[in-house]
Amino acid sequence: LSERLGSVFDRLKKRGALSESDVSTAMREVRVALLEADVALPVVKSFIDRVRERAIGQEVIKSVTPGQMVVKIVHDELVATLGSDSQAVNLNAVAPVPILMVGLQGGGKTTTTAKLAKRLTERDRKKVLMASLDVTRPAAREQLRTLGEQVGVDTLPIVQGETALTIAKRAMTAGRLQGYDVVMLDTAGRTSIDEGLMAEARAVRDAVNPHEVLLVADALTGQDAVTTATNFDERVGITGIILTRVDGDSRGGAALSMRGVTGKPIKALGVGEKVGDLEDFHPERIAGRILGMGDVVSLVEKAAQTIEADEAEKMAERMMKGTFTLDDMASQLKQLRNLGGLGGVLGMLPGVGKLQKQLAGANIDDGQLKRQEAIISSMTKAERVNPRVMNASRKRRVAAGSGTEVQDINRLLKSHMEMAKMMKKVGKMGGKGMMKGLMG
Ligand code: GDP
Ligand code: MG
Repeated sequence: LSERLGSVFDRLKKRGALSESDVSTAMREVRVALLEADVALPVVKSFIDRVRERAIGQEVIKSVTPGQMVVKIVHDELVATLGSDSQAVNLNAVAPVPILMVGLQGGGKTTTTAKLAKRLTERDRKKVLMASLDVTRPAAREQLRTLGEQVGVDTLPIVQGETALTIAKRAMTAGRLQGYDVVMLDTAGRTSIDEGLMAEARAVRDAVNPHEVLLVADALTGQDAVTTATNFDERVGITGIILTRVDGDSRGGAALSMRGVTGKPIKALGVGEKVGDLEDFHPERIAGRILGMGDVVSLVEKAAQTIEADEAEKMAERMMKGTFTLDDMASQLKQLRNLGGLGGVLGMLPGVGKLQKQLAGANIDDGQLKRQEAIISSMTKAERVNPRVMNASRKRRVAAGSGTEVQDINRLLKSHMEMAKMMKKVGKMGGKGMMKGLMG
């Protein structure tokens, strides 16, 4: 039996590096997934080129299919492209720190300004002043004031007849005189990019020298995301992006598009209409969303765990032969902590549902696991292989060595005996089924 097992593993190992045809097949799928997620075409192209380069010739992790391996590479590259860390709004400047919010009309600027102000107030304990520079729509400034009242953040008193530029300057003066930490400036937007809007944003930028210029953009804009992001970045200069309506049907492609073309970090996500609906940006989540969720994510996790799982399989093999030493138990305990439960190991054997439950019932907590590992490492090799030699004086020695009590040693020996018994039982009913499990 173990000979045949060995040859199965050999075959998997020998499969070696990813071939060009493996990669090309997979890239076709990835391309479709990205386009379906509304990632802009030029971004898809350059992304796939990068992945292809990384993937060809890459060693396939043992017992993962080449397809799964490629998916893992794609996932990792997505996370890297999106930014492998979530970036907070940067407030490292002399107060009051000006933050300029820009974007197309209806993108969610005003709502996001209030959301962010609320967060800076509550989470970062900052004193924030908000001002609406939107003099194009009569109700725009009222909208921000109402939101301000809702989130308990001050807004600059409204003066009729001012231009965006004078409001911005007045806001900064008020911020300075009244001791605000942050001044958030919410600008007007047009339905599409026009030079007037950009010129106004630039004038404000030059007047207040904002520490952050945040582009607020609708995640549902799909292919337009690139144009919007490029335009604002080239003509005004942005320092970060906040994507809104991520609560909708969007698969997050806009995140990749915008980040892809501007290289600017995504700083937060709007996930609803309410003022509390602002989330930190987690690249893994968007990557999963872009790749189509559950299936792919679990594949990726599987790939990542495979090396550990290989080890577990080897152990399962030994268990089936009925040899289960204290050394096995020690590495089993370590895996319990790493792999998320003995269930993970036993899960590879067929028909062990009941036993798994029994083990779960044994209810081993983390501290106890560490203690048990300590006890085993205080034993001699001979004691570990043959625990029957543990007499009273040996137990006292091990207890002293591991900082535990003799009764802890007794308990450990007892649970080892029970585990060994169980393993033997599993081994007897294993056989064929296990082979099938491993090959299927
Ligand atoms: P502005 O023109 O850029 O200032 O956009 P507004 O802040 O006025 O928002 C336009 C609309 O989008 C409003 O009805 C908001 O409630 C809505 N909105 C903004 N952010 C989000 C979001 O993250 N999710 C959802 N579902 N709606 C949002
Ligand atoms: Mg607005």
